[in-house]
Amino acid sequence: MKKILCLFMALFMIVSLAGCSESATENNKLSIVTASFPEYDFARAVAGNLAEIKMLIPPAGEVHGYEPTVSDVKAVGSCDLFIYTGGESTAWAEDILSSANKPELSTIATIECVDNLISEDGHKAKADEHIWTSPQNAILIVKAIEAKLSEISPENKTVFETNSKAYCEKLYELDKNIRTVTQNTDKDTLVFGDRFPLAYFAESFSLKHKSAFSGCSEDTEASASAIADLIDFVKENNIPVVFVNELSNTSIAEQIANETGAQVMTFYSCHKISKDDFENNQTYVDIMSRNIESLKLALK
Ligand SMILES: [Zn+2]
Repeated sequence: MKKILCLFMALFMIVSLAGCSESATENNKLSIVTASFPEYDFARAVAGNLAEIKMLIPPAGEVHGYEPTVSDVKAVGSCDLFIYTGGESTAWAEDILSSANKPELSTIATIECVDNLISEDGHKAKADEHIWTSPQNAILIVKAIEAKLSEISPENKTVFETNSKAYCEKLYELDKNIRTVTQNTDKDTLVFGDRFPLAYFAESFSLKHKSAFSGCSEDTEASASAIADLIDFVKENNIPVVFVNELSNTSIAEQIANETGAQVMTFYSCHKISKDDFENNQTYVDIMSRNIESLKLALK
């Protein structure tokens, strides 16, 4: 009798373990899929080692105009939580979700976690999608991820709370360090010989900007008059730094620098992450902190 009972118990364990492995990853961790780097970083900070996290858009990959692969669709269809920005640039994410047809799948569209700014892209006004560039918004997104993970895995609620609190402290510190720079100067305008994906950052720190392209426009050729305007502005206001975005084309910024004597520096918005930074586990806080010294120079 005892032997038979043991056999049943063993069978039951095998069946229930097999059942588990269907929804969770092999090591029973939560499975989180994110579209791009900021969401990946925030999810990693909150979930710690309780989740396997997959970032769909590869390091250095183009965020606008991304086309998901078959394995992306599969990953989203079998994960516990899918985090994406929302809006036009991740319309493909909505497509994956509707084709997965799993209403029980947990999702976060981070654009819904914050107050949106409206950007004029060409002729149409729409919500600017580069929400994470403000550390204050990053805090709101981290807290939304904490709440959602606590819903999905209530037994780990305290771990998520502790992790979220620790990361938010770093984000507050980042915010404070940038604010120290922006508040202790009379200058308030950043010049970008490039696109300007930093509307939320600028709003958060009361900064103005002049850029070769509006928002994250897909244009690649700036008009000669737009470049001439930037050159005049840099000369008239003694602007010491012309910024470019990470992993971007520097030719316009260099042209402005050559005419004015300003220096070209990279502004790290976390819009794209380099392969090196990704492999070295650089965080949003690490990367955004690189801007502090260059902001000091730019606003001097
Ligand atoms: Zn963009």
